[in-house]
Amino acid sequence: MQVASDKVVSLHYTLKNPEGQTLDSSAGGEPLAYLHGAHNIIPGLENALEGKQAGDKLTVEVKPEEGYGLTDEALIQTVPREAFQGVDDIQPGMRFEAQSSHGPLMVTVTRVSDEGVTVDGNHPLAGMTLTFDVEIVDVRDATEEEKSHGHVHGAGGHDH
Ligand code: ZN
Repeated sequence: MQVASDKVVSLHYTLKNPEGQTLDSSAGGEPLAYLHGAHNIIPGLENALEGKQAGDKLTVEVKPEEGYGLTDEALIQTVPREAFQGVDDIQPGMRFEAQSSHGPLMVTVTRVSDEGVTVDGNHPLAGMTLTFDVEIVDVRDATEEEKSHGHVHGAGGHDH
């Protein structure tokens, strides 16, 4: 069975950054299951899997535009240290939920200096060309319920 819209695809993946460091991997755990054509995963990866089948192994390079987007400089701000009351020790890499004009936004501290704390509200993988090593484990028809919900139920998917 080939990967197409309304198929549930189970796959193992290893995600690497441009330096070749592994950022995330399903190896040693349950495969990831997603509903193809429902935008459950980033477009660059979903498009590359179209027409593939169980047993196929492929390496997919995903540009930021087809991944987690380009870096938006407007989402990088330096705020006063006082904005972090109750947090004794602020270090780069810490994540906080901030209030933005579009609602809650997860931000990552990128720099701490005398001027304040620089936070970045971009997705941590924004602006990065990503490489996925993928092995397709299984392809099956989605159930009517999965199609109406737009996501996978059961192993590797939603449990509700
Ligand atoms: Zn559901």
